[in-house]
Parts: sequence; C-alpha cells; structure tokens
Amino acid sequence: MRHVKLPVGLTDSVNNESQVASQSPMRSCLICRESKPKQDVLRFVVDNAGVIWPDLQQKAPGRGVYFCMSEQCLSRINDKRLQALKAKFSIVLPQWDDLRQRITSVLQKQLKQMLTKQSSSAAIGRDAVMHRLWNNAPLMILRAVDAGEALVRQTDDGLEKRAQTGNKSLLVGVSSRHWLGEMFGRDDVAIVALNAAGSAAATVKKLNVYCVWYGRIKVLGNR
Ligand SMILES: [Zn+2]
Repeated sequence: MRHVKLPVGLTDSVNNESQVASQSPMRSCLICRESKPKQDVLRFVVDNAGVIWPDLQQKAPGRGVYFCMSEQCLSRINDKRLQALKAKFSIVLPQWDDLRQRITSVLQKQLKQMLTKQSSSAAIGRDAVMHRLWNNAPLMILRAVDAGEALVRQTDDGLEKRAQTGNKSLLVGVSSRHWLGEMFGRDDVAIVALNAAGSAAATVKKLNVYCVWYGRIKVLGNR
C-alpha cells in the first residue's frame, strides 16, 4: 500500500473546523492509543463471523474499534496488532490483507458517491476548469497525474494567479484520467474543479481524511 502524507492544516484553511473539532467526542486509536476527535478516526465493526468491516458513516450497531487517520498508524497495522482485538471480539485471523482491500473498496465507493453528488456543479475538463478558475469562490481541483504537461502548467499558472488575488484553491492529485472519469461517469477526465465552499466544504474535509488511507488521491497543494 502506498502511503500518502497527511495534508496538515488543510481543513483549517479551507473551512474553519477547529471549533467543531474541540467539541467532538474523542476516540482512542487501537494502534497508537492516542485519543483523537471522532472525525479523524476510521471506525471498524466486527460481524458475527469475526470479520472486521470499515464503518465510514460511524453508525453501524455494535462496539467499534478505531484507527486514526495517520500514515504512521496505517503503516503499523498488521495481523499481529489485530490480535489485540481478540480480548474483546472473536475475530478471525489473519485478515489484514483482506481488510485492507475492504477499506480500499469502501473508500472508492464513498468517494464516488461524494463526487457524484457534486457533479452537477462541477467544472469538468480543461476549458470548463480554466474558466472556473476566474471564480472567486474557494475551489478544489482534482487533477490526474497523467493530465499532460501542458495542462499541468496551465493549471499551475491559473492557481498561482488565484492565490495572488487571495482566492483559495486546493489541488488534489488523482491516480489517473481513467479513475477520475470513473468518478464522474465518463471515460477519461483529466481535470475537474469543484466548489469548496458551503455544503461542498464537507466533501473537501472528508476527502482530506480519506486520502491518507486511499493511495489514489493525494493533496498536492493548498493555497
Ligand atoms: Zn493512531
């Protein structure tokens, strides 16, 4: 599994969540034992067959287990660590390899759902995105790593100009045009711009949390 750096401060600069974080219930991470705000940990539940499932909505019944969304903890999870759960649950082992796949597949579905919801207001493709860059609202730009040099330069220039005029942009790199196309129900998409204000801010916040777990997306810049 590829590891992605947690974009520090992203949430605070795009939408001020610090107040919310301080009021959030705390959950302790199974790996590092630290207490973290609920929205910064991934919840897991164990089913009757002893299989561990990620519970992204944090609403599934039963007792949960929590892992924090840090690269450090993610890299330390293995079957030996999961063994600690045997004190509380009757889990089957080994299952970390399968669990990792379950996490990836659940995140893929969740991301698709989140992005599909935004698609009616999304600017899809180069021309639409370049036009949207003139907009004063905070933007999240999803750009495929195989978008092509010319488009990368063009968007980098545009983002630089936005920054100079005080407009906020979050640039997220995604693994391929094909993947981005899949997220928006098209064949191939090189670049997408999404509104990062209002209700869309929640999507940006979640994306920020998920990208640590999910190797296909990575925050490249936030300004
Ligand atoms: Zn942890």
